[in-house]
Amino acid sequence: MNIHEYQAKSLLKKFGVAVPEGYVAYTPEEAEEAAAKLGGPVSVVKSQIHAGGRGAGRFKSDPDGKGGVRVVKGGPAEVKAEAGRMLGETLVTKQTGPAGKEVKRLYVEQGCDIARELYLSMLLDRATGRITIVASTEGGMEIEEVAAEHPDRIVRQAIDPAVGLMPFQCRKIAFALGLEGKQIGAATKFLSAMYKAYTELDASLVEINPLVVTGDGSVIALDAKMGFDDNALFRHADIAEMRDEDEEDPTELEASRHELNYIKLDGSIGCMVNGAGLAMATMDIIKLYGGSPANFLDVGGGATKERVTAAFKIILSDPNVEGILVNIFGGIMRCDIIAEGVVAAAREVSLHVPLVVRLEGTNVERGKEILNESGLAIVSADNLADAAEKVVKAVKEAQ
Ligand code: ADP
Ligand code: MG
Repeated sequence: MNIHEYQAKSLLKKFGVAVPEGYVAYTPEEAEEAAAKLGGPVSVVKSQIHAGGRGAGRFKSDPDGKGGVRVVKGGPAEVKAEAGRMLGETLVTKQTGPAGKEVKRLYVEQGCDIARELYLSMLLDRATGRITIVASTEGGMEIEEVAAEHPDRIVRQAIDPAVGLMPFQCRKIAFALGLEGKQIGAATKFLSAMYKAYTELDASLVEINPLVVTGDGSVIALDAKMGFDDNALFRHADIAEMRDEDEEDPTELEASRHELNYIKLDGSIGCMVNGAGLAMATMDIIKLYGGSPANFLDVGGGATKERVTAAFKIILSDPNVEGILVNIFGGIMRCDIIAEGVVAAAREVSLHVPLVVRLEGTNVERGKEILNESGLAIVSADNLADAAEKVVKAVKEAQ
C-alpha cells in the first residue's frame, strides 16, 4: 500500500526525520489558512496524488501552464487562488499515464531555500535479502534515469539485520553525497531515523527525492514517498487508515474486497488461476503461444463459487478482455466445485467471449462432466500448453 507525501512526512517526522512544516488542504480556503499558519514569505502548493513527477507534470485543463508543485510568493490570498486552479483538475505526469489523476488534496508547505538536491531511498533488495540504502548526488531526477545514464553516481549500502544501520555506514553515504562539516552529523541522524521508521512501520520503500541541503546547511526531506508491506498492515491500524481508495485501481480494489489477488495488465486474455506460481506460469505460456495476458489473478486455495463469480466479473469488467483462460489445479480444492463455480459465473455474467478451461487434480472427471453438461460454449483443455494454444486461437478467430 502507498500513501501520500504529506502522510509519509508526518510519519517520518515522528521518528525524527527532518521535514519542512506543512498542512494538508482539501479546499482553497484550507490552503489559504495553511499558508497563514506557516506565515513565511514563500509557500509551496503541492498536488497530492500517488505518483511522482508532479513538478514537471501538467494539468489537462492548462497544458501550457504551471506544474503540480507551485512556489507561491504572494501570501495566503495567492495560495488560495493557486489551490483553486489545482483542486479538482487532472494532473498528468510521467508516472500517471496519459489519463492522469484528479487532484483532491493539496499539501501547503514552507518554501525551502535549496542549495543542493540529492537522492536517498531505502528498500528491500530481494537479491541480498537486506534493507538497502540507495543514494545519489543526482536529486530531483528519477533514479531509473540516473541508473541508465550515470550508474557511477549511485551508491548502495546493504544493512545487516543483526546489527542494524551502523554510524560508519551513514558517514559513508554522507561522504558519497558530498556532504561536509555539520551536514555529516545531520545526515547520520536523518538516516538513523529513516531506518527506524522503515523497520518499525514495516515499510517496503522510503524514497526521499529530493533530499536537500538548504542554504544554511541543514539536511531535510523535500519530498517523501512510502510504501508498506500489505501483509503487515494489521499491525499498523493508523497506517491502514491512510489508505486512499481514490488512488487505487478500481478493479484491484474490488478484487481485494473478495480476497482475490488481481493485477491488471494490458493484454487481451483474462486469466483465472489458483496459486500465484501457476498464475505466473499461465501468463508465460500465453505469451509463448503468441497471446498477451490481460491480468494476473490468483483466486487462492480455498476459492468458493462466490469468489469464482466475483473473479469472473472483475475479469470481464476489463474492456480489453477478448478471451478467458481458467487454469485450476485441484489439490485441496475439488475440480467439481470449481466447475460448478465456473458454470454458475458464466451464466450469471452472460459470458460473451471464448472461455477455455483446464482442470486437473481431485475429481477432475466429474468437473469435466459438469462443464460438458452445462450446454455453455466452454472449450475444455487437457494440459497447460493445450489450454494456452486454444485460448490464443479462439481469440484470433473471434477477431
Ligand atoms: P515530484 O517529485 O512529484 O515532482 P517534489 O516534491 O519532488 O515532487 O517537488 C518537485 C520539485 O519542486 C523539487 O525537486 C523541488 O525543486 C521543488 N520543491 C518541492 N517542495 C518544495 C519546497 N517546500 N520548497 C521549495 N521547493 C520545493
Ligand atoms: Mg520528488
